[in-house]
Amino acid sequence: MSQIKIAALAGDGIGPEVMREALNVLRAIERKFSLDFIVTEAPVGWAGIDAAGRALPDATLELCRGSDAILFGSVGLPDRDPTVPTEQRPERAALLRLRKEFQLFANLRPVRLPKILAHACPLRPERQGDGLDLLVVRELTGGMYFGTPKMTEDLGNGQRRATDTMVYTTSEIERIARVAFAAAGNRRKKVTSIDKANVLENGVLWREVVTRVSKSYPEVTLEHMFVDNAAMQLLLKPTQFDVILCENMFGDILSDEAAALAGSLGMLPSASLGATTGQRTFGLYEPAGGTAPDIAGKNLANPIAQILSVSMMLTYSFGRVDAGDAIQNAVRVVIEQGLRTGDIYSTADVGARRVGTREMGATIVAALG
Ligand code: NAD
Repeated sequence: MSQIKIAALAGDGIGPEVMREALNVLRAIERKFSLDFIVTEAPVGWAGIDAAGRALPDATLELCRGSDAILFGSVGLPDRDPTVPTEQRPERAALLRLRKEFQLFANLRPVRLPKILAHACPLRPERQGDGLDLLVVRELTGGMYFGTPKMTEDLGNGQRRATDTMVYTTSEIERIARVAFAAAGNRRKKVTSIDKANVLENGVLWREVVTRVSKSYPEVTLEHMFVDNAAMQLLLKPTQFDVILCENMFGDILSDEAAALAGSLGMLPSASLGATTGQRTFGLYEPAGGTAPDIAGKNLANPIAQILSVSMMLTYSFGRVDAGDAIQNAVRVVIEQGLRTGDIYSTADVGARRVGTREMGATIVAALG
């Protein structure tokens, strides 16, 4: 494979600490699989404001435009300068802008809980089976969050009326459904499509289109589930799910519910995918969590979410499932060896050893061989 250009935007808080470990892993993968990465680091978030006066400096955006994928840390520090207005603060001015700029329509959030970390999960062990392994595929650019009209009106009688519009086109549903079925094809071959077809027109169209798309993936089983039932089933029997396919708002809610099952945000990567050109899919890869200001700069952060974001980038943007799997395997080995950052450590965890960000990262690099 020819050169792969990666923009590495560490951001704020724990971002630079966990990014450093992720880039060490990326370099180890480069050697192991004889790949050729050009990694360019650039400021974003408050680091962007400090360096160039904007949360997404022009040079950083240009770098992203010229890259094959973005490896993103986290942005935002709630206690920094309250005079900076919301629309210029990092969460909106950097992250939302990047999602929009690159039309990142598919958000993938894998949730894995190895049996050995059963204590980190809020569910009773008998509900966890042999461990949890599911993937939430969320549509990210349509639905109620973006539909118009979107407004609040004064009705003149002491009442105000707020309107949000839920809107989806056939093609928007088709393209996210294809992402879900393709992902399921590489997993346990089951898609559970979430809707509210008993009440919403959107749900009826969603169900129709997803069913039609499923015909092109005969090896994948499709089932439909109402969103209220899905919220309940995630807690009652999460092992029944493989890929969960959702529109934007349902996915926002269910992906956080599913994330809670893994016990710590520090374990959860995510991918936001855009267009595919040839064999490459542009994507932004980031931990599910934020900048964790409470533990930043103390060598306490769990780097696994950022490291697994590298694994997703290799798999989904560059089709290197072998390299992505190697990282997942190295993480599994290190967890089985008993290494734990504080967020996944428990005194009840026999044989576990509490380590810092650096040691966790270095041991994962070593496990890659
Ligand atoms: P957070 O995800 O930063 O932290 C929530 C809790 O999870 C904290 O106790 C934190 O210590 C813990 N945590 C998160 N990641 C961890 C890791 N890798 N290892 C160990 N523990 C970890 O959420 P918050 O405190 O609500 O937000 C802090 C800032 O991050 C805010 O400015 C918020 O807007 C921003 N944020 C950014 C993103 C993003 O960049 N994608 C996402 C979420 C929040």
